[in-house]
Amino acid sequence: MKIGVLAIQGDFDAHRKRLEELGAEVVEVRKPEQLDKIDGLVIPGGESGAFLKILGGAGFAKLKEFVRVKPTFGTCAGAILLAKEVTNPPQPGLNALDITVRRNAYGRQRDSSIRTGLMDGKPVEMVFIRAPKIERLGPGVEVVATEGNDPVVVRQGKTMAATFHPELSDDTSIHRAFLELVSNGHGSRASLPSSKAGRKKKSPSK
Ligand code: GLN
Repeated sequence: MKIGVLAIQGDFDAHRKRLEELGAEVVEVRKPEQLDKIDGLVIPGGESGAFLKILGGAGFAKLKEFVRVKPTFGTCAGAILLAKEVTNPPQPGLNALDITVRRNAYGRQRDSSIRTGLMDGKPVEMVFIRAPKIERLGPGVEVVATEGNDPVVVRQGKTMAATFHPELSDDTSIHRAFLELVSNGHGSRASLPSSKAGRKKKSPSK
C-alpha cells in the first residue's frame, strides 16, 4: 500500500513520519504523474491559496481527478482544498467533500490553539492553526469528530478531512482510520472508529 503525501507546500513531513510509524510506504508527491502510482493521498496543512498557485490549472485538474477516484485525507489547508465550497475569501475547491468551509474562521484570539475534541466518545487532542470551520455539511457527509459544536473531522465515501493537525499530536487513530480506508479500497463504514459520531451528528451546523 503506497500512500502519497502532497509535498509541494506545508507540513508534509510530519504526515510522512506518522504514516511510516504506522507501517505505510510513503511517497512525497511533487509531480502530477506520481499520483498514478499511489493508493491514497494525504494533503497536509499549509496555505490553501499557495497550494492552488503551485498546483496551477493542470495540477489542480489532475488532483481533482485523483480525489474523485482514490482515498484522500486532507488536514486544515488540505481540508479546504477538498471542499466543494470555500469562503473568506472564496476560492476553487476539489469538490470531493460536499461541505462549505470558511478559512481562518477562529479569528485572532483563537488563531492557533490546542483543544480537546471528541472522537467516538473519546477525548482527542486537537491542534488548530489558523484553522477553517466547516459551516455546511451535505447530506452524504458523516461527522467523525467534533470540537464544541463544530464538526472537525468529516468523511464522505473515501474522502476524509480534519480541520486541525492530527499529525502534530501523539494519538494515531485518525491516520489509522485513513489507512484502513485505503486498504479497504472503498468507504465502508466499518473502516472508521467513529461511525457512531457520524450517526448522532448529521448536520450540526447550517
Ligand atoms: N489558514 C490556512 C488556509 O486558509 C490553513 C492553515 C493550516 O493549514 N494550518 O489555507
